[in-house]
Order: sequence, then structure tokens, then C-alpha cells
Amino acid sequence: MARKKRSCEKRSRRKKPRRPGPGEYLPDPTEGITRPEDLPKPKIVEKSRDYKKRPCPSCGYKAYRDGRRKRRLHDLGDMVTGRPREIRLTFSQHHCTRCDRYFYADSTDIAPPNVQYTTKVIAFAARLVVEDGLPYRSASWHMWRDHRVFVPFATIQNWVEASGEKSGRVRCG
Ligand SMILES: [Zn+2]
Repeated sequence: MARKKRSCEKRSRRKKPRRPGPGEYLPDPTEGITRPEDLPKPKIVEKSRDYKKRPCPSCGYKAYRDGRRKRRLHDLGDMVTGRPREIRLTFSQHHCTRCDRYFYADSTDIAPPNVQYTTKVIAFAARLVVEDGLPYRSASWHMWRDHRVFVPFATIQNWVEASGEKSGRVRCG
């Protein structure tokens, strides 16, 4: 039945994009693409953790903003359009005049420090390995195929091992 519908779709050659109904065949716009640079343009999402004042982590003094920084982060992409998703995060840097200390506004809900991926990506990868029992390489491929985010399997391995959640079900590579 599904097969018949598929061939009808093909013959009608719709030109206008439209929302697909449930159970309809959706051609993968990124089928066959294996290199990140061949992907459609990422959807850019701006996020901000930019504040005038933030409490100093050492003394609690409300420290004024001293500057702004930017980070680019890979997020889980859109399964329907096949577009990768990129977060452009702006965050404030603060200076505590009491302890003469610099610190950044907390943005760990979006991504851990010094990582190019969002917390969502890391949690999803860990779930694939720990809960679904996928080998690291398969988890990497799954994230690429379905969410258009390229994470080397060794990176996933590091995340899982660092989180200490690696279970006995995990198989290598
Ligand atoms: Zn302070």
C-alpha cells in the first residue's frame, strides 16, 4: 500500500513544497552526503547569556560586565529538512572589583566549557550508547544520519567515559 502511494507521489511531480502527511514518503534531501561541507546551510540560532551584572562566584559581589564573548556550537539538526543546526552563543564576561577576578556568565545549560557541542548533543549521544547500547561508531553514524551533527566516535567515547555511565552492555567500535 505504501509502495503504491509512493509511485503516485512521483508521477504527480509536485513543485510546491508542502507539509507531508503522516506516513508519507519523504525523500532525504541529504541522501548520500557523507562530508559535512556538502550539507545544506545550517540553521543559525542566536542564544544569549549576556548580563549587565552577575554575582561573583567567589564572593557573591554583583560584578559588572566587562566584555562579551561569542561561541559557536553544533546542535542537533532538523530531521525533516536535513539542515544542521548551529548555536551562536553570546555571553558576558564580568570583573569582580572586590577580588579582582574575571569570570563568565554561566551558560553550562547550553554547553559545557571548552566543547563545540551543545549539552543536548552530548546527552543524546550518551543515551544512544548507554541506554540503547549502540557501539560508538554506530552512535556517531546515527547522529550524522538523523541529526546532521558530525561527532567523531572517539569524542562520544570520551563523553561517555567521562560521565562514568558506561554500562556493561556497551560494545567497542
Ligand atoms: Zn568577588
